[in-house]
Amino acid sequence: MATSTASARSIRGAGREGPLRSVFWAMILLVGAATAEAGEVDRLYVIDCGWAHALDQSRWSPGVNDGVPIDFSDNCYLIHHSSEGYLLWDTGITDRLAALPEGVNVPALGQTWHRTQTLLGSLAGVGLKPSDVRYIALSHIHPDHAGNIGEFPDAIVIIQKAEWEYAQALPQKPFNPEHHIREIAGDNDLFGDGSVVILSTPGHTPGHQSLLVRLQKTGYVVLTGDAVHFQSNWDNRRVPGFNTDKGQSVASMEKISRILGEKRAQLWINHDKPSSDARLHAPKFYE
Ligand SMILES: [Zn+2]
Repeated sequence: MATSTASARSIRGAGREGPLRSVFWAMILLVGAATAEAGEVDRLYVIDCGWAHALDQSRWSPGVNDGVPIDFSDNCYLIHHSSEGYLLWDTGITDRLAALPEGVNVPALGQTWHRTQTLLGSLAGVGLKPSDVRYIALSHIHPDHAGNIGEFPDAIVIIQKAEWEYAQALPQKPFNPEHHIREIAGDNDLFGDGSVVILSTPGHTPGHQSLLVRLQKTGYVVLTGDAVHFQSNWDNRRVPGFNTDKGQSVASMEKISRILGEKRAQLWINHDKPSSDARLHAPKFYE
């Protein structure tokens, strides 16, 4: 009887402790779930998304190398996040150029653009189809960064509100305005775990943005977009004459510089051909 009384008491006791215990376990489970959801970037591919030959560097570097030609790289960056899937940072110049061996001349810039391979072909080379890309984040809406969006009808395009408003005011839209857009304003920790952080870096265009990526082995990398064009422009804080705001452009470079120091990050300058050429390109990747 004594045993059965003790059992009864212990059962009643368990009943009284039940709600508290449930809360405790719910908290443990929540913490566990949060940990499981906090992902990481496990792969970053650099994809050749075009290149250009320009007749006069001084258009991008005022007062420097007047009349001296310079070549541009143009990369897209495919980022795989362990719980969010694939994010494409910029989509490069239109894939249509791959069929034009002479490229396309842009007289206003004295620049001729080429594509050696298509973005879709590069994605196929790593086993992906367009519908595998869940997000596209655009540094800005210029054609060498925002081509090919129509090839990704399922992807959400992440863009600064100021950039989208700027795009809407242009006579020629960079892509179909009906595309699924997520407008953001300012810096944005995209997946809430610090692994992919949009940095607002206006100046080249009104809503220009750059990207801070945390890789497990490589460490932090800042993908510039066109916050800066060449290493020498970075070293001397040069601002192209056609940027929409010179003061903002300089402030954005200073912001990036501060973040490079805080995160001990590498600076990957998109159009700087010598440093771009030295980087691993898809199908190789950074971890
Ligand atoms: Zn550009």
